Amino acid sequence: MIAVQGYQGRKVAVLGLGRSGLATARALVAGGALPCLWDDAPEARAKAEAEGFALDDLSRADAWDGVASLVVSPGIPHLYPEPNRLIVRAMAAGVPVDNDIGLFFRSFATPAWNEMDQVPKVVAVTGSNGKSTTTALIRHILEVAGKPVQMAGNIGRGVLDLDPAEDGGVVVLELSSYQIELARALTPDIAVFTNLTPDHLDRHGGIGGYFAAKRRLFAEGGPDRAVIGVDEAEGRFLANQMAQGPADDRVIRISSGQKLDGEGWSVFARKGFLAEWRKGRQVASIDLRAMAGLPGAHNHQNACAAYAATRTLGLAPKLIEGALGSFEGLPHRSQLVGERAGVRFVNDSKATNVDSAAKALQAFPRIRWIAGGLGKQGGIAGLVPYLGAVAKAYLIGHSARDFALALGAVPHEICGTMDKAVARAAAEAEPGEVVLLAPAAASFDQYPDFEKRGEDFIARVRALLG
Ligand code: ADP
Repeated sequence: MIAVQGYQGRKVAVLGLGRSGLATARALVAGGALPCLWDDAPEARAKAEAEGFALDDLSRADAWDGVASLVVSPGIPHLYPEPNRLIVRAMAAGVPVDNDIGLFFRSFATPAWNEMDQVPKVVAVTGSNGKSTTTALIRHILEVAGKPVQMAGNIGRGVLDLDPAEDGGVVVLELSSYQIELARALTPDIAVFTNLTPDHLDRHGGIGGYFAAKRRLFAEGGPDRAVIGVDEAEGRFLANQMAQGPADDRVIRISSGQKLDGEGWSVFARKGFLAEWRKGRQVASIDLRAMAGLPGAHNHQNACAAYAATRTLGLAPKLIEGALGSFEGLPHRSQLVGERAGVRFVNDSKATNVDSAAKALQAFPRIRWIAGGLGKQGGIAGLVPYLGAVAKAYLIGHSARDFALALGAVPHEICGTMDKAVARAAAEAEPGEVVLLAPAAASFDQYPDFEKRGEDFIARVRALLG
């Protein structure tokens, strides 16, 4: 655990008592602060009480007297579409609002670091898609290199649950736009921006607010190195803002699809090959085509980001190449579940929006596509240009009929349930094809979350394969 610094003997309010809220409460106690805890959900409050914490009703008129800070969980809106009523009150009382990420950055470095040979580093990863994969890949590469590494944030542990840093250790954090927007301290050594597509617009008042939130990691954080995906206008803008000029190698530009030239530092993937260029010369080239854990151009973008981040930490291209090859991928993201008679079954249940589904649909040559669920605004109209590899779609869930309409002449069948969709797709699939779950929709109509949906797919496939 990281003991929170700077609040000894002072009251700190914690709103939201999920995993990160409880970790925050423990870390505050460890640092000598006096946490006041609240959650609107009785079950969450009961959990905190069971752990021995006392609760404070933060809606009381005098609740904010003497409170030094309010720490908010990422699921609670702090600005759009409307700030939570307790956050409004804290702000009215002049209480600074923060989150666990802010507490982490102000507490991670300790006097013990003065005795270390190699100062610990923090790598922070953000972007619309590929954050978890890139974060896990960076961790995997560092593990292969024998570095002490810990992973946290939106993936794995809460940041304040981390162990204190070791000599030469690296912490890899996955940070969402919500987390970045609220953190009052943000000082990663290396910051990574994978890409930007519209998402969570309600929480950020539109795409401009969403990009501004992510950009804070770079603008506030002042990282030593910035790894930036430049396949969208926002990434190009950010890279331009961070660099002093074309040869400034504190910025490493990455791309999946474009050759990046110039005097600076860049890493890009084209036609299945990753290339690193620096000062106008090629430094390394890696064949990504046979890497089973990283299929498709989107994963090649993640590979470029992880490669660049670990190069800045001094790792050699050959070592990184070996580690990319042994990465097994994350569950529910292009996850190979099994194979029968030349037909592969791939679980990409995390493809909950059109953009990530489009990437999955471009990663395989011929696809039996299982899609549907609770469709997002705009449906799947945006996927029409990417359906070339789809032999047939097998539609499930609430939006199956809407998806069928959007598919037009593309062969499709309304199956309703996962059970039926897997059975039908498997029965019709031919050797060389991939049965792909990439729903392009949320899961909440039929499942508690995308993980449960993916697990259902896996269970049906395993039952079928025996
Ligand atoms: P995040 O943590 O940003 O949500 P994940 O690594 O969990 O990202 O991947 C989310 C979804 O997006 C998955 O369906 C995955 O296959 C797809 N994906 C992964 N990397 C990328 C990328 N670089 N660009 C677009 N989609 C991606």
